[in-house]
Formats: sequence, structure tokens, C-alpha cells
Amino acid sequence: MNITLQDLGITSGDVILEISYLVAAVLFVYGLKLMSHPETAKKGNLWAAAGMGLAMVTTLFLHRDADGKTIGMTNALIVVAAIAVGSIAGAVIARRIKMTAMPQLVSFFNATGGAASALVALMEYSNPDNSSALVTLLGLVIGTIAFSGSMIAYGKLDGKVGDIFAGWVKYFNLFLLLVITVLIVYMLAFDLDPGLQTTLSYVLLVLALIYGIMFVMPIGGADMPVVISLLNSLTGIAAAMAGFIYNNEAMILGGIFVGSAGAILTLLMCKAMNRSLLNVIVGSFGGGGAAAGKEQGTVKEISLSDASVLLSYSQKVVIVPGYGLAVAQAQYVCNDLVKLLEDKGVEVKFAIHPVAGRMPGHMNVLLAEADVPYTKLVEMDDINPDMPNTDVTIVVGANDVVNPAALDDPSSPIYGMPIIRAHESKNIIVMKRGMGKGYAGIENFLFFDDKTRMLFGNAKDTLQALVSEIKEL
Ligand code: NDP
Repeated sequence: MNITLQDLGITSGDVILEISYLVAAVLFVYGLKLMSHPETAKKGNLWAAAGMGLAMVTTLFLHRDADGKTIGMTNALIVVAAIAVGSIAGAVIARRIKMTAMPQLVSFFNATGGAASALVALMEYSNPDNSSALVTLLGLVIGTIAFSGSMIAYGKLDGKVGDIFAGWVKYFNLFLLLVITVLIVYMLAFDLDPGLQTTLSYVLLVLALIYGIMFVMPIGGADMPVVISLLNSLTGIAAAMAGFIYNNEAMILGGIFVGSAGAILTLLMCKAMNRSLLNVIVGSFGGGGAAAGKEQGTVKEISLSDASVLLSYSQKVVIVPGYGLAVAQAQYVCNDLVKLLEDKGVEVKFAIHPVAGRMPGHMNVLLAEADVPYTKLVEMDDINPDMPNTDVTIVVGANDVVNPAALDDPSSPIYGMPIIRAHESKNIIVMKRGMGKGYAGIENFLFFDDKTRMLFGNAKDTLQALVSEIKEL
């Protein structure tokens, strides 16, 4: 006897739906692959978005509930309205956001992803058809932590939220984690009445909200990128859990990709900062170090004309871009300087620190915007051995990523973080507005080094003036 798909209750729509999820998954993987290089990253985003669009459309029209009805038939209006509101808000925010505020935006998006997954879990926990209580509760807790943690990270990056460095926080956090775990075990192990179950799921939600806040509060300064990437990973895991609840392969796969990409990036960044993840989470940043109490010495300035002569007659020049370059939007004029010096036979490279700026890859994106060729961007580990042979290093709005305290001051909060060894080059020119501190809030003795000369002012204006001066030589 021949058994057909119809006999099993499977329609051609179901088959098309499953195939569309498979295609979406392939598009996610292809998109991620393209995103691994700045030149193809934009295309990668579009392919991955196409995969997500496909999964959304087929889910809307082909996914059937227990009564055989599609979402398109039952909730079409609400879904389309939600998509419209989300798309318009997303497009407006993405267009208006300044490049320097991109990390805040990433954090905010992380928060919304976590909140969405947590809400799915909260709603579905009391649904009698839901057979995956463990996954639902984990989704609720992880999604909520990702939400509140990311909102605090957003506030900190935006300078709206301060740090709490009190020693008791880590014990409080461990205690909270213990309570959350015991509560989940209790909810799974006993056959509780539905009213109590719902109440406890709200208690869990509140505990996870507090944990997310208290987990991010003590983490400061240079450790923020690691935390953001960790929260991104949690958002992905929470989305995968939501996918399990609905048995939706596209959601599970999308969540797993985000979760694992975030986890890999977190570990790579820890490695780049020479710290363990535990050390980042438990340790804290924020001023101090022996440098704080040391005699500061004096800084020496350089005139524009002296700087232009020094640069024009150099053989090798390295530019270290940092957060200040992004603030000043000086990437275009920086590229003009590079072209001008190259016309004079000077070899110019950019030294790229993995956490320069306010998000991983910030400098790559910024310089790509100004059409600086990728071949000129040299990663920290590759350029450092060449620093002693460099005639002039120009530090443009960078501070923490060239701070030698990371190498020689064990009491410094950034001790152990690898840096661009600008101090090893023959001459250093630092462009910044004044003696303002960097993100970690600590003094930088590179500025007091005998070989260092300061060019004070907004980076864009200073570079513009330098370009004009060199043209007149
Ligand atoms: P820093 O934040 O250490 O220093 C930036 C410097 O730029 C400041 O000292 C400031 O000095 C100067 N500056 C600001 N505006 C201007 C301007 N308009 N023109 C000229 N100079 C300006 O930047 P770095 O890139 O060296 O280091 C990044 C830091 O941020 C690290 O500690 C990193 O860990 C952290 N971080 C990185 C993230 C990432 O993913 N990349 C995310 C979150 C934090 P002055 O006021 O005197 O002008």
C-alpha cells in the first residue's frame, strides 16, 4: 500500500515551508561568511536579510496552527501592523544614528531581541499545548537577562549610567543566580497549580531583570565590548529557545548562528585583551593604577610647520586611529593626508587595534567609508614588530589603545591588554583636543614621553591644517 503525504496530513504548503527554512538557513550561513570581510560585509547583510524575509513570508502564509489555519488567515492585520511599525522605526533609527553611537544601537537591538524572546516564553509558559517547560523557562531567563543587561550597556556607552564597583555585587549576583536555578528546578519538579505557575514565572522574570542589571553594572571601561558581544550571544540563545517552543527551524537556526557568532567573538576579544571571561565579568575597570598617583611630567607640543616637515621627510609613517577620529569625523581628511604623504614617497599604514573606538571593527568601518584601501589597514599583531622601524607614529584621537601602562603597570586597570606599541617608534605625534582621558579614565604616560609631541585641537581641524601646511612645503 502506498502512503502519500496527504495520508500523513502533510500538505504541499508544509513541504514548501520546510524547504524555505532550509534555503533561509543557507542564506544566513552565506551572509555570515560574506560578513567576515569588510569588502563583502554589506552584501552579506543583504543576503542574510533576504533569508530572514523569506522565512517571515513563508511562516506568515504557510505555517498552520492546530486547527490548520495559517497566521496569515488568523492574525494577518496584527502581524502586518507589527512588521510595519518595526520596519519604519528600524529604518528611521538606522538612518539617523551617528557612526559614533553605533555600539549603543547594537546594544539597543540586542535588548529588543532579548525582550521579544522573553515575552514569547512568558506567554507560552501558561499555554497547555506547550510541552517544553525547561526550554521555555530558560528562554525567559536568558532573554530577560539579555534585555536588562543590554539596556544598562546602552546607558553606560551613552554616558547615562554610571558604574557600581562595590565588592558585594559579585556575591549578590551569585546568590541571585542560585535563587533563579532553585526556582526553575522547583517549577519543573512539582506539579504546581496553573495560577502559582504563572505567578512564579513573573517572579523569575523580575529576578532575571535584576540579575541583568547587576551583572553589567560593575563592568566598565575597556571591558564593555566583551560584555556587549556576550549579551549578543545570550540574545541569540534566547531566540533559539523561542524557536524550540514554536518548533520553528528558521528561528532555531538564526538564534544558534547569532549565539555562536557572539560566543566566538566574546572569546576572541578576551584573548585579544589577554584576559579570561571570568576575569572580565568579575573584575572591574575605572581609573586608578600607579599612574594615577605618579608625577605627570610635562607634555611638549609641536607646531604645524615642524610636524609637516617631520612627516614629509620620513620614510615610514604609521597612523593609529581611535575614538577621537570617529568623533571628529576626520576619516576623509586623514585619507587626504595619506595620499599627500605617499605622493612624497612616504610609506603610510594604519595600525588597527581590535577595540579602538567604541565597537569591534569601528576603525575598519570608518576608514572604509573614506575609501582607505584595506591593504593599508594592518592588524595590531602584524604592525607591532615594525614599530621600532617607524619614523613617525601619528596617534589620532586614540588613548587607551596606545597606553604603555597596559604593559608595565601591574596596578593599572588595563594591565594585560595588548596595545599598539606607538611608544617604540622613533617619534610620536598625538592629535587630541586637550589632556582628556580615554574610555578607561586613566592617565597615559605616552603623552609625557620624550619622543612624543602633542598637536592639540579637534582632529579634523588639525589634520586639515596639516594637509594645507604640507601642500605648501
Ligand atoms: P579612548 O576612548 O581611549 O580615547 C579617545 C581620545 O580621543 C580621548 O582621550 C579624547 O581626548 C580624544 N578625542 C575625543 N574627541 C576628539 C576630537 N574631536 N578630536 C581629537 N581627539 C578627540 O579611545 P581608543 O580608541 O584609544 O580606545 C577605545 C576605548 O574604548 C578602549 O578603552 C576600549 O576598550 C573602549 N571600548 C571599546 C569598544 C569597542 O568595541 N571598540 C566598546 C566600548 C568601549 P581629548 O578629550 O583630550 O580630546
